[in-house]
Amino acid sequence: MVLNCRHVWEYISGYLDNTLDEETRLDVERHLEHCEICSAILDSTRNILVLTADDRVFELPVGYSERLHARLQRVMLESPPPDSEPESS
Ligand SMILES: [Zn+2]
Repeated sequence: MVLNCRHVWEYISGYLDNTLDEETRLDVERHLEHCEICSAILDSTRNILVLTADDRVFELPVGYSERLHARLQRVMLESPPPDSEPESS
């Protein structure tokens, strides 16, 4: 299965938590190899986790995911990745 960016965003937290099944994880990795947008998102998400990987309870700020997704939408609109698929097919 070929993932588009939206799929990868759904899977990113599972990818970092290692909770994806093998097949999905490989699909995500394959996408990350050639998609700068998703690689950047993965890096920044991982950095957040590293920064907070101590004994403190970490909670995402209210609205964090909404803001992240809004920003992603803008990035996507400005520069659609070459592998993006039409929504209707
Ligand atoms: Zn992508």
